[in-house]
Amino acid sequence: MNDLTRVSEREAKRDVSRLTHIVLHRSHLAETGEATAEWFKTHDEGGTGRKVPYHIYIRKDGTIEQLVPFSRVAPGAGVLNKTGIQVALCGDLRQYPPTPKQAMALGKVLQDLTSWLGKKAKIVGHTEVEGTSSDPTKECPGKHINLDGVRKLAEENYVPWHPAQADDLFREKGWVV
Ligand SMILES: [Zn+2]
Repeated sequence: MNDLTRVSEREAKRDVSRLTHIVLHRSHLAETGEATAEWFKTHDEGGTGRKVPYHIYIRKDGTIEQLVPFSRVAPGAGVLNKTGIQVALCGDLRQYPPTPKQAMALGKVLQDLTSWLGKKAKIVGHTEVEGTSSDPTKECPGKHINLDGVRKLAEENYVPWHPAQADDLFREKGWVV
């Protein structure tokens, strides 16, 4: 993951010890997370109060971008905003699957995040949980992500870390500030 070079000040702070969910999304406004973040900051129709709704963005070439530190809210999932880490994959996953590089990158992100959060971490698709979207017809991330498969893989790759060790690593990388 890239280091956070520009720490966002507009998203609300939160207590990372209360994080419980990893929420998967599709996003196809732009090819990069940086451009996607810029779009949300400048468009009211994004519906996020001009805040960036994703913590992590995975480009089609597998590049992982961090848009918002985990210690701040990325308002991408309604009732799961305070306790969720929002992970977006670039592309319309209702129409076609993620690229192999994206799938690999997602696996790495989920391994890191579940290892950090521990067994309490729940991986969910955005619209799998009620109250996460104002649009009842929304399908996110989309049928080309096999959520049960993703959960199984994350479980198989789970590596427990000592929490203090994880906190140090995450602070060092700038994922938590
Ligand atoms: Zn979504």
